[in-house]
Amino acid sequence: MSTKGKVTGIVSNLVTVAVDGPVAENELCYINLGGTQLLAEVIKVTGDKVSVQVFESTRGLKNGDSVEFLGKMLEATLGPGLLSGIYDGLQNNLTTMTGVFLKRGEYTDPLDRTALWEFTPIAQPGDKVVAADWLGEVKEGWLPHKIMVPFAFQGEFTVKEIVPAGSYTVDQTIAVLTDKDGEDVPVTMTQKWPVKVAIKGFKEKPRPRKIMETGVRVIDTFNPIAEGGTGFIPGPFGCGKTVLQHAIAKQGDADVIVMAACGERANEVVEIFTEFPELVDPHTGRKLMERTTIICNTSNMPVAAREASVYTAMTICEYYRAMGLKCLLLADSTSRWAQALREMSNRMEELPGQDAFPVDLSAIISNFYARAGMVVLNNGQTGAVTFIGTVSPAGGNLKEPVTESTKKAARCFYALEQNRADQKRYPAVNPIDSYSKYLEYPEIQEFLQEKIDKQWVEKVLRAKNLVRRGREMADQINILGDDGVPMSYHEAFWKSELIDFAFLQQDAFDAVDALCPLERQEYILDLILGICDKQFEFDNFEQCRSFFKELINTLRQMNYSEFRSPQFNQYEQQLRNQLS
Ligand code: ADP
Ligand code: MG
Repeated sequence: MSTKGKVTGIVSNLVTVAVDGPVAENELCYINLGGTQLLAEVIKVTGDKVSVQVFESTRGLKNGDSVEFLGKMLEATLGPGLLSGIYDGLQNNLTTMTGVFLKRGEYTDPLDRTALWEFTPIAQPGDKVVAADWLGEVKEGWLPHKIMVPFAFQGEFTVKEIVPAGSYTVDQTIAVLTDKDGEDVPVTMTQKWPVKVAIKGFKEKPRPRKIMETGVRVIDTFNPIAEGGTGFIPGPFGCGKTVLQHAIAKQGDADVIVMAACGERANEVVEIFTEFPELVDPHTGRKLMERTTIICNTSNMPVAAREASVYTAMTICEYYRAMGLKCLLLADSTSRWAQALREMSNRMEELPGQDAFPVDLSAIISNFYARAGMVVLNNGQTGAVTFIGTVSPAGGNLKEPVTESTKKAARCFYALEQNRADQKRYPAVNPIDSYSKYLEYPEIQEFLQEKIDKQWVEKVLRAKNLVRRGREMADQINILGDDGVPMSYHEAFWKSELIDFAFLQQDAFDAVDALCPLERQEYILDLILGICDKQFEFDNFEQCRSFFKELINTLRQMNYSEFRSPQFNQYEQQLRNQLS
């Protein structure tokens, strides 16, 4: 018998309900409004009074309308066919619709129930299995998509039957498992999982030990992100958060990409709709969308649906991670998510925290970031969820609660600076304030030394120091004037400009420069550090400036040429001539 209730109060999407039985936090319910059923989620239970957040407009709802509780939480539907899908936060399939918006009370199926998948069994009758173990495989695009023992299964099972290789729909039984009491349980290719609960089913979650290459120099070299790591990009409006995140999505070394687009404005979400399906994957030459899932919402969608979207996106990533894949989750912008949390907590008249955000904002953000990570599966293989979120602090104030809370949770900090964006120094990542804590991990340092160069970490720190010193010199020159400082100040300043222009700046819209592989990053950094090691004898600061400006020009031309192409080699020769 499911619990029933009656509406007793309505404040926008927050509805209070008097109930006749037990109700759990985060449980779902349907509110009957005429012939339509509105989906809602329980956010607070006090005695027989329950507050629910409706996922859509409550227009026309009245006191006394009936409510039916479903006994389950908001769940994601998992199975082959999620990739290349575009969904809203409740996993309504937006690609099968004409417009971005569904009619009220209308929910669509995230998976195609009629599609046939070529199934190959992995497990055999008699095998002992637990939740998340692989039973078989289908090809989703060209990715191996594992069909697993559902995550909700508890204890050990014996495989009783498994279907032979062949074509099946997601709803057909592909295996029968017997539990320890001798009960038979059928398994299909699809399962459900509550989005706010992290998917377990792995052996351990060790510290990350590799970096995830993004092709963006200021990330990979200066502030590398680990595979299974976390990072965030705070920055004022228009500083390049979205461009940077899209560069990472296009180029990042991952098998699966999930984009949670928490729209600043509706047209940004529309851009994603139109732009992403056209993109070509630089690693494979295939459509990027074949291994991408997009979860969109715009500010005009109801607050609870916006809040749910990042959880749905994370759940999909964890699902693919359990298959031993490398997943990349990008959320733009997490400030919209935090605002949704704030709207809900304010309507419930909870005691507000700083800037009226919920008191437990920090904990909510930390728990979310903690779901990322590298895992060792039961079979010894590894999978990863790397998470990078953007934050749009109002007025660029990095002391506001969402930025501060995220800073505690994420291990990489890519601070976009208004000043750099104004000067068109893209990506506008502040080279001094930004950091990657992974650069301090011994296992990551070892990885970098092994993969790139024994002295790599020292080289990176040297480059950072040169940039820092250049900034100090610039301040001195500003105060004392060009002629008021020793020539060495000018030289140090221009060496840092060389690193800035030829290494840190990178054109996301240039076909060649946009993607800079690690070996090329190493080559340029060595070249630049070699120049910085030299002591030049300049007669005056104008000579110093024009000398470095010419070097910068040549190095930039190199960045725009295919690595080791005749054109590239020509510029390299030109650089040698300039230096001799
Ligand atoms: P935000 O998401 O922070 O509001 P966007 O990512 O939309 O900002 O960037 C705003 C504009 O800045 C872009 O339209 C583009 O013209 C410019 N831009 C940002 N990053 C780069 C880059 N790496 N290379 C070239 N232009 C950039
Ligand atoms: Mg943006």
